[in-house]
Amino acid sequence: MDITNISAYEMHEKFLNEEVTAVELVNAHLENMEKLKELNAFITINKEEALERAKILDEKLASGAEMGVLAGIPISLKDNISTKGIRTTCGSKMLENYIPPFNATVVELIEAEDGIILGKTNLDEFAIGSSTESSYFGATKNPVDNNLIAGGSSGGSTVAVKSRQMPLSLGTDTGGSVRQPASYCNVVGIKPTYGAISRFGVVSMANTMDQVGVVGRNVRDTSLLLKTLMKKDTRDGTSYKKSEEVLKNLDVNKNYDFKGIKVGVLKTIGDYKLDEIVARDFEKAVEMVKSLGGQVEEISMDSLKYAPACYHVLSTAEVSSNLARFDGLRYGYRSEKYETTEELFRNSRQEALGKEVKRRILFGTYVLLNENKKEYYEKALKVRRLIADEYSEMLSKYDVLMTPTTPTIPFELGTNSDNTEIQYNSDIFTVGVNLAGICAISVPFDKEEAAPVGIQFIANKFEEDKLIKAGLAFEGGNVDEL
Ligand code: GLN
Repeated sequence: MDITNISAYEMHEKFLNEEVTAVELVNAHLENMEKLKELNAFITINKEEALERAKILDEKLASGAEMGVLAGIPISLKDNISTKGIRTTCGSKMLENYIPPFNATVVELIEAEDGIILGKTNLDEFAIGSSTESSYFGATKNPVDNNLIAGGSSGGSTVAVKSRQMPLSLGTDTGGSVRQPASYCNVVGIKPTYGAISRFGVVSMANTMDQVGVVGRNVRDTSLLLKTLMKKDTRDGTSYKKSEEVLKNLDVNKNYDFKGIKVGVLKTIGDYKLDEIVARDFEKAVEMVKSLGGQVEEISMDSLKYAPACYHVLSTAEVSSNLARFDGLRYGYRSEKYETTEELFRNSRQEALGKEVKRRILFGTYVLLNENKKEYYEKALKVRRLIADEYSEMLSKYDVLMTPTTPTIPFELGTNSDNTEIQYNSDIFTVGVNLAGICAISVPFDKEEAAPVGIQFIANKFEEDKLIKAGLAFEGGNVDEL
């Protein structure tokens, strides 16, 4: 039996029952990683340490000690999550050789539950992007079709999970970076409520929207890792105690349906057109939710047509401030060509940052200029409030909202790398969720379909339980019958 072809839950159970050792689990995934190198899902593979840790876990089990809920499960992390002693590059030349002296809180939580960290996944530089093409370490390829983009910015994480190089992986989602690549790679991706998971040790892109998210091959696996991470952390002032209660009593082994669930269906935003395939699959998905008992109503949300513009004003402002620390003095790359301190800053940033990152920094600096602040930044803050209020109103009427995760299916690698309009619009259904700080999940419409389409369910703050139930119900429905 191929042990990489089962769920994370089953891996854990087989490990506990001594049907497979942790070392065997790690080796089986390492083998796939070696075979599928050309997909470029990983920047760093943590082979020696992971095998060492697996050995310790095997011994711990043999000694009869109580095991953690993730025991034996290999897990990868997007490479903007700090790992003590393992380089953390953010997909940038700037941090090519940066080795953090500390672990992110999420790393500590995984290790405390006996999970095994096996690799750091590829990403768009500093999590800025929608295709994982802007990584300094080269683009990641989509396992569904190697000519297609993986989506981004957590493309390495979704590709690793889809191609069975890893059963579970962490990404980060600031505007859609977990859900959009999950949709493009036919896997499950969840973006929790802002403040649900600690951001301590996660390199900031736009700190008022960033959240760690989980990628898995099914909803149940995804919820297992999510639950482990939803903890208050005193080292992150934006993390909430409430987070710990949300999934406490959820039974993921039950069969869920949509009976009694009010679903607000959002098919379009403004006059934006969906791809034909996405529109067709989304219609079928809505029919399926209805057939599973959902009380479905079509809705429209006027403020969302401003969400991408609002997102880009606010996120770039935050990017320009957060990335100011990469100046050649404190972290990472330092240019050799300088005489003055000013030249040191300028040349280090010029030589080590990529085109898209520079574009965002420039844009963000522009909207924050004294003469522009009122016109752009402050206006965008007001629009953000309108968007959050409209979601709030909708979520007081409906349990969950349902949308396509992306308006299109993935495009071919290299064809739109520099087309900001196409790249930015791929997040049209996802960015609003980050602006409002609420939670959402992307579930594949049909895991085996050659043209990947994801269905997004959105719920209010700290209602991840509703997302998991909706996801489980959707997954359990039989698409083929429609
Ligand atoms: N694609 C979006 C962007 O480029 C989102 C990025 C993210 O969620 N990290 O800004």
